[in-house]
Amino acid sequence: MAARFSGVLQLTELDDFIAPSQECIKPVKVDKKPGKAAARIRIEADGSYFQVNQAAAAHEQKLVVVSVSPQSRASLAARCKLGLLETAQKLTTFLKGLGVHHVFDTTFSRNFSLLESQQEFVRRFHKQAEDKKALPMLASACPGWICYAEKTHGSFIIPHISTTKSPQQVMGSLVKGYFAEQQHLPPDRIYHVTVMPCYDKKLEASRPDFFNQEYQTRDVDCVITTGEVLKLLEQEGVSLSDVDPAPLDTMLGRAAEELSSHGGGGSGGYLEHIFRHAARELFGIHAASIHYKPLKNKDFQEVTLERDGEVLLQFALAYGFRNIQNLVQKLKRGKCPYHYVEVMACPSGCLNGGGQIKLEGESSKEELQQVERLYESLRAEIPEENQAVRELYEHWLGGWGSERALQVLHTQYHAVERASSALSIKW
Ligand code: SF4
Repeated sequence: MAARFSGVLQLTELDDFIAPSQECIKPVKVDKKPGKAAARIRIEADGSYFQVNQAAAAHEQKLVVVSVSPQSRASLAARCKLGLLETAQKLTTFLKGLGVHHVFDTTFSRNFSLLESQQEFVRRFHKQAEDKKALPMLASACPGWICYAEKTHGSFIIPHISTTKSPQQVMGSLVKGYFAEQQHLPPDRIYHVTVMPCYDKKLEASRPDFFNQEYQTRDVDCVITTGEVLKLLEQEGVSLSDVDPAPLDTMLGRAAEELSSHGGGGSGGYLEHIFRHAARELFGIHAASIHYKPLKNKDFQEVTLERDGEVLLQFALAYGFRNIQNLVQKLKRGKCPYHYVEVMACPSGCLNGGGQIKLEGESSKEELQQVERLYESLRAEIPEENQAVRELYEHWLGGWGSERALQVLHTQYHAVERASSALSIKW
């Protein structure tokens, strides 16, 4: 399976952030041992034959799992002029035809990411008197932003960043942890691919924090963008419209009849979910509707919770580097009024990620609106009410807020020291 992807994907520069120059993380390091390997030839049904190497054969024995992000599905649906459910079902057929064994949806893992973020926010809110960096809490789901923060603002900004893993990396833990256990397989016998709206997710998957030393395997072995899935379809000469739909897989083994999403926008709805939870938990207020107040532009908006004229909570979303830089400057001057900020590197957020498909003959604004309409057309689920998520918290993680949940669903960040140039060395 990995070999099927590798024609489209290459490893390029990993030591950078945000620039969409990386096409894939290198799935497995293959040390060549000279001399021993005899050539293996595979003969196909049509009589054609080719040489396979041992490493490729080893991949083929793995259980292959693909986890598709809802943003990628919306982009493919817009491109193929299909509904979201149809797109998911047809994509499942296509991927299984390539040798994939299970196709999952990262909306499921996002439930865990949202729930952990909510709890983390409440913990930090209670700690703000003794820990000046507990707030504002800054979102952690966007690797473009994380790489920028680590490289540019390092130890100043890192304590503010939520430690909760992104949906992609929670999915990595679920697949190589819970799912591997269910399948009675060690984590390294699963090859896990994700389909994502951006190139920076490749960098995220390649972080040492998401590498399992014991089994020498990554939680996510390979990341492909939505555009790369389209290339795969084209390479295979397949049009999704002509593919038969297949039932959707779910991690708990029950067939999924419908797709669901999370309200609050195409970047995952972190602001809305945390806001509602915090309003309820901290102030006993049920925030039925959320009113966004645009500031300088539509990518910088505020949401406020007030009681009798007193501001109880002040949240913001800051998308795109212009707004991120403004936010960081405010923080540095001690003038950031927010308790939480949903920070995303792409203007308009993840539906507009650099790995999404560019629609033909449409202006970029129209195509984004089309993808947004599709994305928002699903029933919005509430993470707390998802039965499968509750079961997994209970049986796999040992309950809400358990030590194991903290260990499995959280990560850490690292300030990147700037290499001092020869010119700046003081002799
Ligand atoms: Fe990727 Fe852009 Fe979303 Fe960040 S905002 S996760 S860079 S698509």
